[in-house]
Amino acid sequence: MKVSNLFTKTSKDIPAGEIAKNAQLLIRAGYICKVMSGVYIYTTLGLRVLENIKQIIREEMNAVGGQELTMSSLQKKETWDLTSRWDDKVVDMWFKSKLKDGTEVGFAWSHEEAIIEMLKQYIVSYKDLPVNVYQIQTKFRNELRSKSGIMRGREFVMKDMYSCSLDAAQHDKFYNDTIDAYKRVFERLGIANDTYVTFASGGAFTQFSHEFQTICDAGEDVIYINREKNIAINEDVMNDENLAKLGINREELEKVKTAEVGNIFNFGTKKSEDTDFSYINSNGKKQFVYMGSYGIGVTRLMGVIVEKFSDDKGIIWPENIEPFKVYLIRIGGETAVHRADEIYKELLEKGIEVLYDDRDVHPGQKFADSELIGIPYRVTVSDRMLENNLYELVERKNGQKIQLTHEQLLDKLG
Ligand code: ATP
Ligand code: MG
Repeated sequence: MKVSNLFTKTSKDIPAGEIAKNAQLLIRAGYICKVMSGVYIYTTLGLRVLENIKQIIREEMNAVGGQELTMSSLQKKETWDLTSRWDDKVVDMWFKSKLKDGTEVGFAWSHEEAIIEMLKQYIVSYKDLPVNVYQIQTKFRNELRSKSGIMRGREFVMKDMYSCSLDAAQHDKFYNDTIDAYKRVFERLGIANDTYVTFASGGAFTQFSHEFQTICDAGEDVIYINREKNIAINEDVMNDENLAKLGINREELEKVKTAEVGNIFNFGTKKSEDTDFSYINSNGKKQFVYMGSYGIGVTRLMGVIVEKFSDDKGIIWPENIEPFKVYLIRIGGETAVHRADEIYKELLEKGIEVLYDDRDVHPGQKFADSELIGIPYRVTVSDRMLENNLYELVERKNGQKIQLTHEQLLDKLG
């Protein structure tokens, strides 16, 4: 892609009313555009990053046996009445509307009840289980506060997976496999070292749920961790009784600020009993389905990554999720233009994603933009260096600068 074709523009100014670093940088670099507090557009650049994150999650969910689908965003009142969660006093973040005939509808803030309602139509016998389904889709939540940029949206992308198992053993295996899959996701996103599997509240069946919490100053959560032993507990459940139960000493824990990037719940048969979601076992007896739910905050992750990987010049995308691998700059006259055009073509032919700054602007602006946008490698083709047949390669993450021949450059990037 050529910079001259991007409809977005970079900006030096901090966007008015935006206090979150992630949103400030993403807006300035042209990844997102603000519609209102908690609601953002993902532009050409932003969508590329989002799709890279989604693809990593998708691959790991498929690897544990998840089947992808897309649920509807408009939901019926009856779907949620079964568990009383249509009531605004029970769930305070609904966005609701009405059909022309007055029928109430809600915008999906979660899909737990909706998934169960759908799966009930297909799962009747033990032969139909296990079933594990997931989607990567937009959720709507009327959040009270939205000051964390894309880390807390009123409209945001979530990956939500739901497991339906025959019995506790099958359920536990999938639950543990998914914990491992989540670890691989965070590894591939470059945040595994700072992400803790955390004991938290809200397990409907077991006492605890597991949250995946990433150390991040802009996060809204507080957890207590032991780095060596790799244990973590959310402050919400931090009391003497729980510490004793988990065999953790208060003295060995360190308090850190975190962002919840994912969570998993073990429902056992609680949810299926509430919704009468059952199957007939091999002896002809009715059994309730064992269920779990597994969330990952996709857009929140993008925000957390920007919070963690940036400097005073801009974003520093970790490997695997960058929108482009190379930012190609040309400086000078006809020769530079010609050579840069060639390099652009050659890199594309090698399957390398390139953002080519083909604009007629001051070199300083090209350099500044390449840093703000945060692409891992910057290649500069200039008349001056071409006199010695050399190209400059700069790594965004450490500023390392080297001069290479044409051949060396293609080798290094390929
Ligand atoms: P939080 O405590 O942060 O409000 P939650 O417990 O409401 O999160 P879930 O409903 O379980 O979260 O959603 C699953 C995942 O979706 C969360 O772990 C988080 O990463 C992400 N998430 C939740 N709310 C938002 C939001 N408003 N904006 C962006 N991501 C969100
Ligand atoms: Mg919430």
